[in-house]
Parts: sequence; C-alpha cells; structure tokens
Amino acid sequence: MPCQNVLHTLISASVCRVANHHRMGQVLIVCAALTCGMRAGAPESRTLYGHRAYAVAKASQVVSVGKYRSARAVKLLPNAAAAFRTMQEAAQREGVGIAPISGYRGLYLQKYLFDLKVKKLGSPELAARWVAPPGYSEHHTGLALDVGDPSTPKCDALPCFDKTRTYHWLTKNGARFGFELSFHESEGHIQFEPWHWRFVGDAEGQKLFHTP
Ligand SMILES: [Zn+2]
Repeated sequence: MPCQNVLHTLISASVCRVANHHRMGQVLIVCAALTCGMRAGAPESRTLYGHRAYAVAKASQVVSVGKYRSARAVKLLPNAAAAFRTMQEAAQREGVGIAPISGYRGLYLQKYLFDLKVKKLGSPELAARWVAPPGYSEHHTGLALDVGDPSTPKCDALPCFDKTRTYHWLTKNGARFGFELSFHESEGHIQFEPWHWRFVGDAEGQKLFHTP
C-alpha cells in the first residue's frame, strides 16, 4: 500500500473510539513506521496538548488558492478555496490584501514543522502551544489556512498580525464568507493565532469543527 494511503487509513482508524478499531490503529502505526521509515507521529487519542485529531484530506482533492513568497502553492478543498477567493476579492475591492501563507499540510510537513519547534523550545508540550503535532493539525483537513497582510510581511504568522488591516477586515467580514478564527485569545493551552482561519461554510466544515 502506498505510504500516503497507509497513513490516511491510520488516521481514520486511530481517531475511532471503538476498542477494536483502536487496536487496528496500533497495528497500522507499526506498519506506517516500517513502510514510511518514520517514528509514529499519528494520533492515538482524540486530543493531544489541546489539539484535536484530524484525518488528513487526500492531496488529490485540494486546489491552489495562490502562492505567497515561497514557490509552494497554498491549497484548500474546493469549497473553501472558492470561498477564500471570493473573500479575497471582496477585501481587495476595499483596498485590503489577504495573502495565503499556508493551507493544506500532510503528516510529513506537519511533523517537520512540529519537530523544528520542539528543537527551538525544548519540549513537545511547549512546541504544541504554537504548532500542532502531526495528526492533530487543522491544516490536515484542507479547510484551514494561515493568512498575512501583503503590505506588512514582517508580521506574517506573528502576534503583531492582529494590528494589521487584513486582520481587522477579517474579524469584521470573515464570517460572511464562512471563515472563523480558530485559536482565540481565551484559548487555554494554545496561543492566540490571529493569522489562522478555518472554513465552516459547508457541511464538512461544520461537521469537523462544530461537532463536539
Ligand atoms: Zn495555521
């Protein structure tokens, strides 16, 4: 089985609370570790360090909403991508830019980003305040993205983004297009991330983010 399929099955199995399926998750963790040459970083529980487990959307389903700074395209599932483009155009008509910085991520990219943060901060617990562990990121869903203000790039993915016109515009208008902020100032363990927004404007988004 291709590596990606193994991991996709693994995530689906491991978020299941049924004991039988949980055992299947354990088997697949071993399988994934052997097949893909990685340490198991996939979910074994519903939450980890305050982050919920999410299945990884298929890479073949996400579409580009543009590139920003890097050569890598930022991708979302089609409904979220269409809503994002409509929102971006509406903001642009008011003279406000919304730059897509990072959208859909597979397990490997998330693991890479998480490991970098662990190295920098010294522990997984501290790292998880800023970056979700692999298997627990909203970015896996294809319905979440990080955005920036193209006129204030020094605040990309930093707390000062909340002082930008883009953030101000999003807090007033994002909901009209189905987008909401994921990590608020009142959030317990996870830091306030003014740049991280998720799409709840369709049934999939509602199911993933608004079902307890
Ligand atoms: Zn994010």
